[in-house]
Amino acid sequence: MTRHSLTRRSIAYIGLGSNLAQPVQQIEQALLALDQLPNSYLLSYSSLYQSAPMGPQDQPPFINAVAKLATGFTPIELLDQLQAIENQQGRVREERWGARTLDLDLLLYDHTIMQTDRLTLPHYGIKDRDFVLKPLAELSPGMSLPDGSLIKDLLEKCPQYDLMALTYDKNHHWRLYKDAAETDDSEPGVIE
Ligand code: AMP
Repeated sequence: MTRHSLTRRSIAYIGLGSNLAQPVQQIEQALLALDQLPNSYLLSYSSLYQSAPMGPQDQPPFINAVAKLATGFTPIELLDQLQAIENQQGRVREERWGARTLDLDLLLYDHTIMQTDRLTLPHYGIKDRDFVLKPLAELSPGMSLPDGSLIKDLLEKCPQYDLMALTYDKNHHWRLYKDAAETDDSEPGVIE
């Protein structure tokens, strides 16, 4: 056994969302930033999904994903790291549920339950957002929340945000899943 493997790490699930400034690229860049965090390993990440915005509807659809991270950071330290990544990618905090280049939510940290001024765990919106539950279920199909509720049960009951998976086509373009079978000249399906 190496010294490395003796270090205790927690498992954190992080929700990613973007609807400005080439959202797919924002998500890809954020995944790269998570992969490069010290004291942490990016274990896996979900497919990318497109979802309708919550709140104000006069904004573009969102691109969402969830990442699974092994980390030696405490929850607050990890929140600091996530907010630093948001800031690096030009996040400006404006209206609630408004458009944003990058939103990183700490969804789950082991089975921790906590509520402080800066951090609520599990994330307060987790049960009501299919664009969080669906990618979570994709990563860990049988997973439950600290209160014992199963992700797959929550998914059946939660509000719908017109969720559609994206697929990476043979020309290296992201498309909505329903467009996957279209031919090369179907440019309108490309998502950036
Ligand atoms: P948002 O506009 O959704 O990015 O909300 C950001 C604010 O929510 C920040 O001030 C955080 O301190 C707070 N917050 C509370 N709990 C969480 C959480 N689990 N993940 C991310 N931000 C959180």
